[in-house]
Amino acid sequence: MQYEENRLQPISLIDPLTTPRPRYASDQPAHDNYGRRIDYLRISLTDRCNLRCVYCMPEHGMQFMPKDELLSNDELIRVIRTTAAVGFRKIRLTGGEPTLRRDLVSLVAQIKAIPGIEHIAMTTNAVKLAPIAADLKAAGLDRVNISIDSLNAERFKNMTRGAKLSDVWAGITAAEAAGLLPIKLNMVVVRGLNDDDVIDVAALTLERAWDIRFIEVMPLTGIADVANDGVVPSSELIARVEAEFGPLADLGMHAADPAHRYQIAHAKGSIGFISSVSEPFCSTCNRMRLTADGRLHLCLLRDDEVDLRAALRAGVDDAELMQIVRHAVAIKPWGHGLSENILPTIRGMSALGG
Ligand code: SAM
Ligand code: SF4
Repeated sequence: MQYEENRLQPISLIDPLTTPRPRYASDQPAHDNYGRRIDYLRISLTDRCNLRCVYCMPEHGMQFMPKDELLSNDELIRVIRTTAAVGFRKIRLTGGEPTLRRDLVSLVAQIKAIPGIEHIAMTTNAVKLAPIAADLKAAGLDRVNISIDSLNAERFKNMTRGAKLSDVWAGITAAEAAGLLPIKLNMVVVRGLNDDDVIDVAALTLERAWDIRFIEVMPLTGIADVANDGVVPSSELIARVEAEFGPLADLGMHAADPAHRYQIAHAKGSIGFISSVSEPFCSTCNRMRLTADGRLHLCLLRDDEVDLRAALRAGVDDAELMQIVRHAVAIKPWGHGLSENILPTIRGMSALGG
């Protein structure tokens, strides 16, 4: 896969205070204009991170958002309350690195108390997870996805530009002991960097009831060096895993889960493949993202955003905020345009949360 440097998509930032909108019925869960029910909000709690993974951030020169541009906790809780009121049920906390938030445990407890929110998950690099895993569980966190790109400590350190594998392993163990189950591990596969680690990571499922997800690297901004030619199509990885372990049992896809899951014979866990690049799953998309600076980001791989922070700080009332969120859901783009070389331009993965 070769992406052109010339990114074609115009920036589309919608100011909900000045953009004309229809009125939406308020008694139905929010659906987009293609009939998809959108009920899953992924929240980037911060764009900062203690790592610089090669497929996510450049090593130097990251510019982070100034503090006054970030949503306050009260603003964040109000946004989540509003999304819950229009039918969102599931929340994922992500980043940057969500465990950098000192108030994380109390935030989880506040989110759990919001009527309508049924499930809270978190995606983390787990470097700082071990000491807080039990508190997070007690506060209401249901489970975690932990990123791990190699079981070779040296290679892992190189890919993350600094993480100690032992810290992450301690985080995984603590999460399991705390009952943040099932444990899900995310591995972004980049050709030439860690594609030959897939067999070792898949082998973890032989003895552990973990779900491993192999993710095709996506061409967000700031990582041109690995996005170009770094994609290993899932079909190729499945063939490699089958060559090692024999035929995989096909567990299929579940609604609203982008992973196609399989199981190695007699394994306790499962392996899944997220093929956003080679086999887009936009037709079953159920999610939107909230950035740390308060914008609803409508599709991971497009730039369209609705500026909720502007609405909040202009003093809109709850009914109007619900209308704004319903409108953002309605105009969610159909899907990404990677095959036409339409690439996101304004935010890297670390500001979107995956
Ligand atoms: N810091 C946390 C972590 O690493 O798990 C949460 C934020 S990170 C941006 C969320 C997920 O995005 C991680 O699983 C990470 O591996 C994945 N990710 C980062 N860059 C990616 C890329 N270019 N393509 C596909 N997935 C990516
Ligand atoms: Fe940080 Fe997660 Fe991005 Fe790695 S993938 S740099 S841990 S935000």
